[in-house]
Amino acid sequence: MEYVEHIIDLVGDTPLVKLNSLAAGLSPTVLAKVEYFNPGGSVKDRIALRMVEAAEKSGELRPGGTIVEPTSGNTGVGLAMVAQRRGYKCVFVCPDKVSEDKRNVLKAYGAEVVVCPTAVAPEHPDSYYNVSDRLVREIEGAWKPNQYANQENPASHYASTGPELWKQTDGRITHFVAGVGTGGTISGTGRYLKEVSEGRVKVIGADPEGSVYSGGTGRPYLVEGVGEDFWPETYDRGIADEIIAVSDAESFEVTRRLAREEGLLVGGSCGMAAAAALRLAQRLGPDDVVVVLLPDGGRGYLSKVFNDSWMAQYGFLPPEHSGATVGDVL
Ligand code: PMP
Repeated sequence: MEYVEHIIDLVGDTPLVKLNSLAAGLSPTVLAKVEYFNPGGSVKDRIALRMVEAAEKSGELRPGGTIVEPTSGNTGVGLAMVAQRRGYKCVFVCPDKVSEDKRNVLKAYGAEVVVCPTAVAPEHPDSYYNVSDRLVREIEGAWKPNQYANQENPASHYASTGPELWKQTDGRITHFVAGVGTGGTISGTGRYLKEVSEGRVKVIGADPEGSVYSGGTGRPYLVEGVGEDFWPETYDRGIADEIIAVSDAESFEVTRRLAREEGLLVGGSCGMAAAAALRLAQRLGPDDVVVVLLPDGGRGYLSKVFNDSWMAQYGFLPPEHSGATVGDVL
């Protein structure tokens, strides 16, 4: 019989898929690391497992405990899966810009979800960082993984994502592109790839316009899961050779093209990262191999990025839609 003991045993070892249509006319090979193949549907399964295991070892998380974490959804799913296996409860704190679809997924896994306003400063008592701290103090046996400071976050990518990419490309990867949220993905994967290639692999961060990583002040943007208004401890400020800022409009346009032209139904931060990778690829040659990491799937965004009314409301409709009225032949 061929089976795994538990769904969490399937975390990692995600495939690389070539981008054909989007990279048409560009010299380098552009490959996507498709993280929705993880059993919880995102890259965050990798960090969830490792953070919980480390907390059990250190004694911070004890049997019957509660996991409390501010999360835009994906980390919550990963943590909820691990929690089920080990008998923990979960309380997740989300900013209100996170889609209702995503919050419902967390509830479906049995977690409790607390929603906080997006438009307040991190130091405000209602910010999702502060609300989660308060819950940790109030709930007995609570443990906060704190993906923004927990070094097991980048360590999980150093141990899995990095080695996978090196093996899958047979050491031919020349550029790694990833969106930056906690910075765990880019820092851990980037460090591994730079070490193993003796500095040859270049690491490029993709960031929403307005976020601190690309020199912004933290002004709001609509892409979910990436960009910050502060500098997390999980982000290695020396890792990126370059940061490319991408607008919401371009992120969402490329997200839609990934679904229509490549068959990759992925989230908005994937379009953002892919937009940065394509911009980079324009200045590279035929021997270059660019890998862009696509963090999650697109089903959680059907009422946003993939919804024409929502897109129109923000003026984001792709060119074939803008200016058209009902009855126009498109
Ligand atoms: N995209 C999405 C949808 C995410 O949830 C996250 C995690 N916040 C990221 C990108 C960024 O990954 P990281 O936290 O490792 O920088």
